[in-house]
Parts: sequence; C-alpha cells; structure tokens
Amino acid sequence: MPGSGGRGKKAKLKEKMEAFQRTCREAGLKITPQRMAVYKVLIESKQHPSAEMVFRKVRDVIPNISLDTVNRTLLTLSEIGAASIVEGSGDVKRFDGKLETHQHFKCIKCRRIFDFHYKPFDNIAVPKNISRRFAVLRKTVYFEGVCDLCRKHAER
Ligand SMILES: [Zn+2]
Ligand SMILES: [Zn+2]
Repeated sequence: MPGSGGRGKKAKLKEKMEAFQRTCREAGLKITPQRMAVYKVLIESKQHPSAEMVFRKVRDVIPNISLDTVNRTLLTLSEIGAASIVEGSGDVKRFDGKLETHQHFKCIKCRRIFDFHYKPFDNIAVPKNISRRFAVLRKTVYFEGVCDLCRKHAER
C-alpha cells in the first residue's frame, strides 16, 4: 500500500534524525538547523551527492547557507561517523549518509555511484604485513566500471 509505505519511510527518517542528534551530542557538536538540514538532504539522496549537489538542495530550506558551510558540515559529519566519503571519488568528494555496511560501484562515464551489498566483502582479511605495521580502521571493496545505461548508449 503506498500510504503505509510513505508513513514507514517518514518514521525511518525521524529515527535517523534522532540517531544523528545523539551522534552529535556524543561528539560534543551543537545541533544546528544547518547541520540538521545538510544531514537530511544527504540521507534522502541516493546519489552519493557532492557538496555542491547537497548545497543546491539545502538552499530550498536554508536560502542563505553557503557552499563552504555545506562542505565543512559534510566533512564534520564524516569525522563523527554520521556520513562517509566515498572512496575513489577523485577531486570532487562524494558523500554517503548510508551507515549500513555496503559496497560501491562507480560508473566512470556518468559518475553515478551505486550501492550493493555482497556479504563476503564485509569481512576482508588483512594481510599480516599490513596488520603488523598499521592499524586498519576501515576496509572497503570498491568497483569501478561502466554502468548498464552507459553500456547501452555505447552500443547504439
Ligand atoms: Zn554510467
Ligand atoms: Zn553508498
């Protein structure tokens, strides 16, 4: 039923916003309307948006916000673990508000980033020569290639 689905989504969003406020408090960060708005745009987007993309949307809610503020806010969110920076994004950082374990496929043509989840990738072994020297904090599997739509375009 579309109605109940919509309510479920809203409830989930509310839950995420509350979890975010807890994360902020634990990190000693003030909960500001800017931070709330940036976070909301980020988790509502499926695009792994850049700061610029988030900025364009946040302006609907907070018209006088600057790109610099949005950028700094996204970096802060990444620092406190409320978001992450997508690996291999190149010069323009792309952000991810999805906290569940997942992997990415990035299309090198249209630059879209797709989420997928393949369980065996969740527990990648760290080679001894790495674990002896470094403290590994994050391990990710990252795919790059050409997406289905871009492949279709190439065929034509
Ligand atoms: Zn593509
Ligand atoms: Zn993602």
